Amino acid sequence: MAVIDVKLLTDGYFTLDKSFLVFGKYQGTKYKAALKPLLVRTEKENIIVDTGVGNLPPNYQKFHDVIRTHEEELGNSLKKNGLRPEDITMVVNTHLHFDHCGNNRLFPNSKFLVQIDEIRYAYFPDRFMRVSYLRPFFDVEGDYLPVHGKYEIEDGVEVLPTPGHTIGHQSLVVKWKGRNIVYAGDAAPLPENIEKRNITGMIYSGSQGLESIDTLRRIENPVYIYSHDNEQLKVEF
Ligand SMILES: [Zn+2]
Repeated sequence: MAVIDVKLLTDGYFTLDKSFLVFGKYQGTKYKAALKPLLVRTEKENIIVDTGVGNLPPNYQKFHDVIRTHEEELGNSLKKNGLRPEDITMVVNTHLHFDHCGNNRLFPNSKFLVQIDEIRYAYFPDRFMRVSYLRPFFDVEGDYLPVHGKYEIEDGVEVLPTPGHTIGHQSLVVKWKGRNIVYAGDAAPLPENIEKRNITGMIYSGSQGLESIDTLRRIENPVYIYSHDNEQLKVEF
């Protein structure tokens, strides 16, 4: 078995208007969104999927509170699992919105596996998406491993394209103990995105977003990890 361990990490929480997470609902409702990178250890790689929000620049702090204890910083969350940032050999970013690549800079020894459409778009987003991409967060030391479409990292660990929330969004599926652990990213930040087939409010393409939700719903024997659900922090695999 190539996969040795799968664990949820944390980078604390940040607040946002809940309507970003579910289309047409929750306007004006402030939500304390969890930030929960996934650690996947295999025989070849130590992989982190998404790296949280890190430290926001002052003009972003006006709109988003970052709430975390010292223990909840990603570096310390890793440490609890016996790893240092330099032990991470691969970062998979579901997409390059600032709350998913905020700590990429901690991993200069790592490859960054991201869909090529996402990398290109992040450097020159449409006006309505501009605020979501922070160049200092994704333009960091380390090499991109740009991929296009499905990509098997190794036996039992693969990314699949789930565009919609962004142009090049991807999710990660790990076969583990007879289940498929599905790290949905912002294709489904909350359970209701999957359960009620609700797309996100922040969306590049609604029709693609719905197709991607259906792609995730078709996965057999799933354990879904919702990117921002704050009631799912103690999931054991
Ligand atoms: Zn997000």
